[in-house]
Amino acid sequence: MRRDRLEDVIEENAKQARPWLTWALGGAGVGLTVALIGLLLYLTVLTVGLSIDGRSVRLRSGWTVRDLFANGMVTRRPGDLVSAKKHQVLKRGQGNPAYLMSQGHVIAAGDRLQNSEQITSYNGTDIVEHTHAATETIEMPIHYDGTGPKETVVTSGSPGVSEVTVGDVSGQVVTERVLVPAIARVVRREPLSNGAKTVALTFDDGPWPGSTLAILKILQQNGIRATFFEIGEQARQWASLSRQVADAGMEMGNHSETHPLNLGRLSAKSVSNEITYAQYNIRKASGKSPLFFRPPGGNTTGAMYPVLAKLKLGWVQWDIDTEDWTRPPTAKIVSKVLNNVHPGYVVLMHDGGGDRSHTVQALPAIIQGLRAKGYVFVTISELSRVPHRMG
Ligand code: ZN
Repeated sequence: MRRDRLEDVIEENAKQARPWLTWALGGAGVGLTVALIGLLLYLTVLTVGLSIDGRSVRLRSGWTVRDLFANGMVTRRPGDLVSAKKHQVLKRGQGNPAYLMSQGHVIAAGDRLQNSEQITSYNGTDIVEHTHAATETIEMPIHYDGTGPKETVVTSGSPGVSEVTVGDVSGQVVTERVLVPAIARVVRREPLSNGAKTVALTFDDGPWPGSTLAILKILQQNGIRATFFEIGEQARQWASLSRQVADAGMEMGNHSETHPLNLGRLSAKSVSNEITYAQYNIRKASGKSPLFFRPPGGNTTGAMYPVLAKLKLGWVQWDIDTEDWTRPPTAKIVSKVLNNVHPGYVVLMHDGGGDRSHTVQALPAIIQGLRAKGYVFVTISELSRVPHRMG
């Protein structure tokens, strides 16, 4: 009986202990299961494991190619926009974007990354600019035979035409095919015979955007050389215009650095600076040293002579003032020249200082009219006499 009771007690105790054990064991099991499920979720649903350029990485599920770039996990560069001609870089980074490949296929930027993918990254490729077709004028070359101020056109020549493809962005000519070849103009140069009727066209106050090149073109088309009295500070500002004038065979003149209208009111030092600085700037821009000085407004001063002597500069005014800077009608500019010209005369016109459209319009008729009277065109240094007086 005692024994039975003892067994009962043990049995009873065991009965009371079992739920606790069951709960403990059960709880551990659930925890383990949750952890396993969590791990499984982590490995299969919440993240993906893959390799990028041979490096294993684990990423949040749902990431796209774009996310990889945004988070700096791929550092390949986009390509460049390059020129059609020599594939020089025009715009850095404006080519195709960097890209990723998996199993031989490019993955689109918005594609989700897949588990166990093996991804390789590549720099973006360059984009070659587009081109367009155009026709271009081939400049007519000019050949000079002999030396001397008298010029006779032997062969008139003509410009050519070529078909080109041009880079849309670079503007460079990529291919060129000559449709009509240019024919050179041949000009014979000779010394002046005694008693030749010479005339020197001069243009002041340039270089000036627009009008200087318009005048230059007319002179070149007619095979004529003239003299350009440039303002030093403008030659510095528009150096390429000054260079084109000089390269076209024109004579460069010095018309002071800042065009003060009355040199006589300046100190000797200022007068010296006006002439010296202009000489330097015109030489620097055009590549040619002026041989003559023309005072602004024609106003001379004693202080200029020692400076001119030091720089070995002559000085010159004009015989005919067209007053073109007041913008008279074109016909008036033309008649002023043609009605007053004499052999050896210097004609004053302007390529700068304002709207010179009337001068540009008058010039062809002036040239034609002077030619009809038997005049040949010379530069100031080619004149047989250099007049210092004003007309
Ligand atoms: Zn002037």
